[in-house]
Amino acid sequence: MSVRVRFAPSPTGQVHIGNIRAAIFNWLFARHEQGRFLLRIEDTDKERSTPEAVKAIVDALTWLGMNWDEEPVYQSTQHARHREAAERLLSAGRAYKEDKGGTGQGECIVFRMPGTDMAFHDEIKGDLRKKAEDMKDFVIVRSDGSPVFHLANVVDDVTMDITHIIRGDDHVENTYRHVALFQALGATVPKYAHLPMIVNAQGKPYSKRDGAAYIGDFRDKGFDPLALFNYLALLGWSPGDDREKMTREEMIAFFTLDRIKSGPAQMDLRKLSHLNGLYLAEQPMETFSGGVRAFLSKLDWGQALDETLFLDVCRLMQSRTPLYSAAEVWKYFFVELPDYDAKAVEKQLRKDGVKAVLTQIRAALAATDFSQPALLQAMRGVEAANGVGEGKLNQGLRVAVTGTTIGAGMIETLAVLGRERSLKRIDHALATLCG
Ligand code: GLU
Repeated sequence: MSVRVRFAPSPTGQVHIGNIRAAIFNWLFARHEQGRFLLRIEDTDKERSTPEAVKAIVDALTWLGMNWDEEPVYQSTQHARHREAAERLLSAGRAYKEDKGGTGQGECIVFRMPGTDMAFHDEIKGDLRKKAEDMKDFVIVRSDGSPVFHLANVVDDVTMDITHIIRGDDHVENTYRHVALFQALGATVPKYAHLPMIVNAQGKPYSKRDGAAYIGDFRDKGFDPLALFNYLALLGWSPGDDREKMTREEMIAFFTLDRIKSGPAQMDLRKLSHLNGLYLAEQPMETFSGGVRAFLSKLDWGQALDETLFLDVCRLMQSRTPLYSAAEVWKYFFVELPDYDAKAVEKQLRKDGVKAVLTQIRAALAATDFSQPALLQAMRGVEAANGVGEGKLNQGLRVAVTGTTIGAGMIETLAVLGRERSLKRIDHALATLCG
């Protein structure tokens, strides 16, 4: 039988990366097996499910480029099937009615566990067992007639012909009950793969407190969906070597359940940013500049930027920008005078002798056409005249023209800024900042 898997989120809030990683693993597995990837919205809990949360799920999958192969199934539309299954279990003696509260307000339906030890094989964790005495009968339909998660989840998996259930390992304990339900309903038990948890640096479950945890956070911070997909795919799975950057085709080609790791997967935002930087560096200029522009347009200085300068800056900074949002440090290219970092000014400009050297630099640069070769030659001349090595005068100059000690190559930066801006800033530094 061909593979049919599903992503079955409960639409009760924002979409956590742990959930979306389960979606990614299901999707990659379906594509590798040329099977089907289905979406089921588990909206049985009417009080907690919201249309906004459904939209967040659909948006997250779409943003990450994951398509589903059949119409999404809304669990709340399946209640007749859930009740019909409960009736069948009642008639087969596998369930019974009970007045739980003893209030006479109505009876719920309770599933009768088989009374034997339960076991199932997990594709990641191996053989798992649980003793009969550790498992109790459980409610499958509440006294108001609504189905409980376990029943709805299993009946929907039967209806949708699901062959493999790939989900978080917080569901392992539920699975013993689910296996008993599948069997009692006379259905084939699917194969299970329970994914190890995503943890923080301390080995604790990764949460909002550790930084970005919801898909929306990553989108807002300017992550590239291709990079996030790649990173999450490798969070707990490996193609068998230690490569970090893979195309989607490669991931599909290599994705098998036996390569999912059984230990917890540690989320490392720095590694993700690094990988994101590799993706951004490869983007066509249009994509990169578009992503940055969308981000910068939210900043007070980032609207209506000079287009030629903006594209020059994009070309200069693309390979050193790990995130679109990291472009916030580009401010110095676009404003009249940069924000001068007090520490950098103290260290680089207030020292004795800096004024004299910066005056020489100003004169040498002013005599060029601001092309890179000419600027380089001019700097070499001043360095030689002062008996210092190549690049030794760059940091003082950098603080004078950019306000900070970090940036792209000094010569390239000057060329992009151009004559007028560069000289104006050096003049400002000479007049007000140098000691
Ligand atoms: N709605 C459940 C959850 O989000 C479904 C679990 C499953 O995949 O079976 O945890």
